[in-house]
Amino acid sequence: MLTEQERERYARQILLFGEEGQERLNDAKVFIAGAGGLGCPVALYLAVAGVGEIRLVDRDTVDRTNLNRQVLHWESDISELKARSAETKLREANPDIQIEALAATIDETNVRDLIAGADLIVDAMDNFPTRYLLNREALRAGVPLLHGAIRGFDGQVTTIVPGRTACLECIFPEAPPAEVFPVVGTTPGIIGLIQANEAIKYITGTGDPLLNRLLLWDGLAATLETFTVERRPDCPVCGGEVRP
Ligand SMILES: [Zn+2]
Repeated sequence: MLTEQERERYARQILLFGEEGQERLNDAKVFIAGAGGLGCPVALYLAVAGVGEIRLVDRDTVDRTNLNRQVLHWESDISELKARSAETKLREANPDIQIEALAATIDETNVRDLIAGADLIVDAMDNFPTRYLLNREALRAGVPLLHGAIRGFDGQVTTIVPGRTACLECIFPEAPPAEVFPVVGTTPGIIGLIQANEAIKYITGTGDPLLNRLLLWDGLAATLETFTVERRPDCPVCGGEVRP
């Protein structure tokens, strides 16, 4: 049951998906991998939507070069752990939810513990090796993975549901080269909010998720397009059989 304060706080979205939808959000646990350009808007909008438990992981400290896009981190947070900086802002944005912010590098040794109990995993990373690790563990645990990635004015989003959709390695069998990429802050803002929107839809059972669809945002042309993607039978992660 929602409290009076919750009915008031979430009144405008309860008009969309009812108190039942809001209760689902309150009961949801979301793991967000990264508190950078994507992770900041994802975490902020899921926090104010009332996702009951948010676990956020980022190993880095705030650097001045982050401030053009990582909107939970401000000038006064430089040299602070991003996990702490984000946690402080999110608690102030919504004191009614639980936020667990951890300063850690996501790797083979801790990923299972980090995602344990999550209803959804949000890929807000900046590198493909960690994304592939999250993809494998999401499949193993049977937990949906909301993928987002950005570069420059371009971004992409897809919703991966184990057993129902192509996985990340079906769609991107090879990682793009690691680089310090150019980016304008609006790009992770837009892509992060599409990921947060997918999370809210998934949790409340509203709308059509981006299943087997890759959404591409071209910020220079101001276009959004979706392309159908397919599971690869020879995928080393989710493919069960190899076709002749
Ligand atoms: Zn696959």
